[in-house]
Amino acid sequence: MSALLPTYARSGLSFARGEGAFLFTEAGDRYLDFSSGIAVTALGHAHPHLVEALTAQAQKVWHVSNLHEIAGQERLGQRLCDATFADRVFFTNSGAEAVEASIKCARRYHFANGAPERYRLITFEGAFHGRTLATIAAGGQVKHLEGFGPPVDGFDQVATFDIDAVEAAIGDETAGVLLEPIMGEGGMREVPYRFLQDLRALCDEKGLLLVLDEVQSGVGRTGRFYAHEWAEITPDIMASAKGLGGGFPVGVCLTTEAAGQAMVPGTHGSTFGGNPLAMAVGNAVLDVVLEPGFLEYVAQMGLRLKQQLAGVADEHGEIVAEVRGQGLMMGLKCKRPNAELISALRERGMLTVPAGDNVVRLLPPLIVGEAEIDLASRTIDAACAALKSRAAEHA
Ligand SMILES: *Cc1c(COP(=O)(O)O)cnc(C)c1O
Repeated sequence: MSALLPTYARSGLSFARGEGAFLFTEAGDRYLDFSSGIAVTALGHAHPHLVEALTAQAQKVWHVSNLHEIAGQERLGQRLCDATFADRVFFTNSGAEAVEASIKCARRYHFANGAPERYRLITFEGAFHGRTLATIAAGGQVKHLEGFGPPVDGFDQVATFDIDAVEAAIGDETAGVLLEPIMGEGGMREVPYRFLQDLRALCDEKGLLLVLDEVQSGVGRTGRFYAHEWAEITPDIMASAKGLGGGFPVGVCLTTEAAGQAMVPGTHGSTFGGNPLAMAVGNAVLDVVLEPGFLEYVAQMGLRLKQQLAGVADEHGEIVAEVRGQGLMMGLKCKRPNAELISALRERGMLTVPAGDNVVRLLPPLIVGEAEIDLASRTIDAACAALKSRAAEHA
């Protein structure tokens, strides 16, 4: 019996090493990795620049705590601010912590501005913001909340991307609105640009903060540095993580000067957050992602993937209902249970990730090549064909 709490349904596969878009088992079996450890290994496996940055830092100093200056943190923070809407950042170790910091920041902003009663955030059905007590309450999914006591108070869920419904949900205690620009775990559901623009305007009108959770969609995943850039809006506060460390745990809460000004000494903290190892890797990830032409490359590969997936969906309408997503954050909404397609792909040496709403997520590394996208499409085509003939046998 395993010593691990059985909180995960694991595949049974175990990988000994990785290279670029591929993972290899101990026995040497090769898998095309279109999961990227759930949108984390943005530059693929064993990227030489990341390996070099981490090993170089490991020989100097690993951890000193935030009681001292950390040069890599200053540098990464400044680079994130230069490349985004933000003026200030707070580093965390995970996505959920970055969202928690964002929630605290939004509440504290109103507290410091003479409206301490404004602590509630409007969130959306099907959202995912992490697994801490506050973030499961923000996500509002019964399967995540059940058995863990009264949900943390302060979240009001709206069912759809409907601006009138959001307006109707605003009360005297509302602090802001929290959402993902593309719902990842919730099924790669794209939020219409128009809705994001309307939300921005509504928040401005009502003095509310717009808080974006770009933990999954950020750091180049959609072909822009952050996905909200497609809608030509900016948030007041944003959580980022997953791809930022390329596989090393790191997260960050980014804020404007105004939204962050109440986070004064003592209001928040983290022992590990922003330690030298994490910062060395985060800076190395940005070296690559912010290199001129890189995001355009991601967008181009995303288009290639989307076109090919549209072809597969046409060919196999009995299996694939819809192609969703943007850039290299794609989803296949299935007509058969998504687990069947995921196993059929795994049997053919390709890794993907399930999502809600019966979706299979395709999250290749951002450095994926044309040949690997073509291989993925052929593999999906073969898996769909196999599922069809299996269904025909049972009919
Ligand atoms: C993964 C994810 C989180 C949680 O990140 P962890 O690192 O698992 O805590 C939060 N929000 C979104 C949108 C995510 O995709």
